[in-house]
Amino acid sequence: MTPVPARSTAAATLLLNATYEPLCVVSSRRAIVLVLADKAVSVHSAPEEVHAETVVLPVPVVVRLTRYVRVPYPAQVPLSRRAVFHRDASTCVYCGSSATSIDHVVPRSRGGTHTWDNVVAACRRCNHTKADRSLAELGWKLPHPPRTPSGAAWRLLGARTVDPRWREWLGMPESVSA
Ligand SMILES: [Zn+2]
Repeated sequence: MTPVPARSTAAATLLLNATYEPLCVVSSRRAIVLVLADKAVSVHSAPEEVHAETVVLPVPVVVRLTRYVRVPYPAQVPLSRRAVFHRDASTCVYCGSSATSIDHVVPRSRGGTHTWDNVVAACRRCNHTKADRSLAELGWKLPHPPRTPSGAAWRLLGARTVDPRWREWLGMPESVSA
């Protein structure tokens, strides 16, 4: 029903719920269909335009549904390096400098698990210094226990490349309620 130039069909659009909560990523073609059907409104669009039906539209980067949809949340956010860096703001939890690695709080060699509550972002120096020792042995403390992130926006992490233009809508974790 909606002829879209080939160059636009691969583009992706962030779909927000009516409440501005990020829902998922859809093809820009799908987003245009939603906008033309008045099921969504464009929140942020690209400078390029796309010819759809009889109208010319800017390519949607972010669209918002006009009606709220209820979405069940996944049981657990997948643990990935990128997601850990995002949760810990790419900052070493031990010293506050820029994180470059992932550290297991309880070392894996001592039975530490590869789970959200045992994985933190760390700088190379702290990771190297800590090695296979426990925090108690080093006299180090965590500012707060590592938590499993929750919230709809987290679903988008690890799944695909995040368009930098979506970032303000994915403001995590504080602005996203679970
Ligand atoms: Zn550090």
